[in-house]
Amino acid sequence: MSKRVLVVDDSPLVRNLVKKALNGNSEFCVVGEAANGKEAVDLAQKLEPDIITLDVTMPVMDGLDAAREILKQNSKIKILLLSAMGDDALLSQAQSLGIKHSLQKPFRAEQLLEALRKLLEV
Ligand SMILES: [Mg+2]
Repeated sequence: MSKRVLVVDDSPLVRNLVKKALNGNSEFCVVGEAANGKEAVDLAQKLEPDIITLDVTMPVMDGLDAAREILKQNSKIKILLLSAMGDDALLSQAQSLGIKHSLQKPFRAEQLLEALRKLLEV
């Protein structure tokens, strides 16, 4: 069965890139998308995805605060952080939350799929 993915990024462009990479791939299916951390927390609760691709820098609530909340509610959800240049401080904070997987933007579709497969191996 394909893994259910929630796509979170404040950039519609990045969300579309992720969706495009995952659509047409039987391993994954996109079940929802969110443009900030608050929406991500709400949708994670509602949709119970297997995986969240989570942007770090977002308005309203950043990826780190969202991850903390999401993992508190459901520690089984696997999170892939999508970071940009300069997000390093946030990334090391993420590691202290137990989030070990990240992918730096910009990425190619194949790199995203590879990172998601690695995320599932753990
Ligand atoms: Mg962002």
